[in-house]
Amino acid sequence: MEGSQWIPTVCYQCKGECAIIARVENGVLKEVRGNPKARGKACVKGMAGVSLEYSPDRLRYPLKRVGKRGEGRFERISWDEAMSIMEKKLRDLRDRGDAHKLTANFFPHSITDPKWRFLNAYGGFINTALPHCDSAKIVGFIRTMGGVPNHHIPPAWFTVPKGGIMILSGRRPFGGLEDAAVPRDILEARERGAKLVVLDPMFTPEAAKADWWIPIRPSGDTAFFLGMIHHLIMNDLHDADFVKKWVRDGDFEKLKRYIADKTPEKMGEICDVPAETIKKLAEACAAAPSVGVDSFKGVMLGNAMDFAHAWTIFLCITGNIDNPGGQPLPDLIPLSPVSPGPAGPDLHELGWHRTGPDRDKFAKYSFIMEPTWYEAQAIKNGGLKILITAESNPALTEMGQNEWQKAVCMTDEKGEYMLELLVSFEIMMSETARYADLVLPDKSYFERWELLYMPWWYNFGHGLALRQPVVEAPGECRHSNIVMIELGKKLFPEYFQFEDDIAYYDIQLKGLGLSVKRLQEIGGLWSPGTLGFRKYQKTGGFGTPSKKLHLYWEDLEAPPWNQALPRPDLAQEYTDNAKSYPFFLVSYRIIYHSGAGQWTHNNPQLRDRVSGFYENPLMINSRVAGEMGLADGDRVTIESPGGSIQVRLKLTEGIRPDCLGLAHGFGSTIGRVATVGEGVASNILIPDSGSTLEWQDVVGGESHVSTRVSIVK
Ligand code: SF4
Repeated sequence: MEGSQWIPTVCYQCKGECAIIARVENGVLKEVRGNPKARGKACVKGMAGVSLEYSPDRLRYPLKRVGKRGEGRFERISWDEAMSIMEKKLRDLRDRGDAHKLTANFFPHSITDPKWRFLNAYGGFINTALPHCDSAKIVGFIRTMGGVPNHHIPPAWFTVPKGGIMILSGRRPFGGLEDAAVPRDILEARERGAKLVVLDPMFTPEAAKADWWIPIRPSGDTAFFLGMIHHLIMNDLHDADFVKKWVRDGDFEKLKRYIADKTPEKMGEICDVPAETIKKLAEACAAAPSVGVDSFKGVMLGNAMDFAHAWTIFLCITGNIDNPGGQPLPDLIPLSPVSPGPAGPDLHELGWHRTGPDRDKFAKYSFIMEPTWYEAQAIKNGGLKILITAESNPALTEMGQNEWQKAVCMTDEKGEYMLELLVSFEIMMSETARYADLVLPDKSYFERWELLYMPWWYNFGHGLALRQPVVEAPGECRHSNIVMIELGKKLFPEYFQFEDDIAYYDIQLKGLGLSVKRLQEIGGLWSPGTLGFRKYQKTGGFGTPSKKLHLYWEDLEAPPWNQALPRPDLAQEYTDNAKSYPFFLVSYRIIYHSGAGQWTHNNPQLRDRVSGFYENPLMINSRVAGEMGLADGDRVTIESPGGSIQVRLKLTEGIRPDCLGLAHGFGSTIGRVATVGEGVASNILIPDSGSTLEWQDVVGGESHVSTRVSIVK
């Protein structure tokens, strides 16, 4: 890598995975920008990837725990020793007939990820980092529209026509990015005459740019949408032709009966929005050429399953499915199979979350569960014996972190750890790695190969992108994919007959007339060039059994849901303890620390006092603070039924009086920069997480915004 050159690759400072170009001079990474041949944008976090790459905290050698779990005492070992420890433990577990007691906690960048293959071959399971906020919505979309897990496909904002309506419901694409190009797309759509509507308890950067900000009560989103659905149906403002043609017979009639008493007035009381506002937006949507709704992350409103249901019903009855400006559906391009392929567990039988242990109990849940919660439960139940984490930090960044920490340290009557092996692949020491038996130095996203195929994702939806090494990795770093391929070759060679990751990707690319080399030659990006609208017309319908849209979810008729159409009520946690804990805690994301946990925490560019985000003060409405005798900068204790933390106050007009806002993802305890910066972890406040989450399990794992809190000076 002599001289200076720009090399196309893919960012991974967050899960948006934007196409970027990296400037490399004499083998040193100097600069990152958005790839002009793709969507052309990189955010502040993406550009700060240079600091991450050269962090003094990078792990360089495999480490083995020598103290107790959590003590953080390790010794350097060789890769050979690390591999043989893993191989032996994995063989033992499988030979005992307990292969399903292996779980991997990682964010699968793509279905091309070889770690999937390993887990399928072994019979283990995956916990992804997805569940916090969108799993119920993923499953909701599958129920209504069928097909592959759509994951989160936001509206293609660049296709919104003049007069189209863009609704961001608890979604903060400007401040909690998953695609650096989305803010531009939304603002350009506005410039050509589309309207932006923001439902959010806080006055966010999106609200500042919106035509209409509706400061909704947290968790009121389902009621808000049901109020609009009532108004549309009762006034014949819905798209009757679309409904007649594409909604399953009988579903609309059931919905009409159900919605009859969900008036905007009643729903307005639940979501604390005037009925006139609900009606006005419903009428505007009925008259608009398109309506797109995005939720998913950002402020993460509660009752996810019900909201997913109300959201999809709204899109269906307004005909905004797979149209310009509406809800896109994925357009899959076929990758070639790598034969023979391991079958993997049956998702329908075992639950969407691929739960191994406790399957009788957990399989009834219809969406992916909170990984930290699930892992803590499974360890305690003796159902999780080997846990492998990669680029995830359940000991800090997910609710239930305390229970997780306790669970991984639990011992049986012989004094042995109930979790027999904990392996952490990371690029720098993390809270999770500190508990691990083996800490394995991973390659950063600037040092490794990956074929990214994400038909449901933002940037290269409908295409492929190549992540390629732009610089050498330090020390003895190895990419986790290579490690899992090597283990696969030892444990079940029949499924790992290819040489390495590149050979694996080449097989997958073959049917498209591509290879890794060819992809490299053409700039690392490939797309069939079609976004495609109303594909269901050409394919004879949707992916549901009836080929029509399913508004009525009969599989939820049975307990514990007892509800085949969406409930409008607030999450139960909002009404419990309301007197003792008068505020709703809004746990929100910010661009500096969204999506990459330790990597962004420990990045000097992102924790800078002036240009970065140094701490996470508690946002409180100025009037309310005044009434309570609190001033800007005061230190207060936030208490919830689950715990308490101390934090500094920040007064603002931009939050509902009944809410407190706390940026999520802070509280790191490891790393040279992370420990210098201030900040607190909001997870500690989440009640019950890691022990019981019965109601949240039913409505969709959204405890982050179902937390009632109080504050005292
Ligand atoms: S949005 Fe995420 S993937 Fe895109 S440039 Fe920013 S950090 Fe990187």
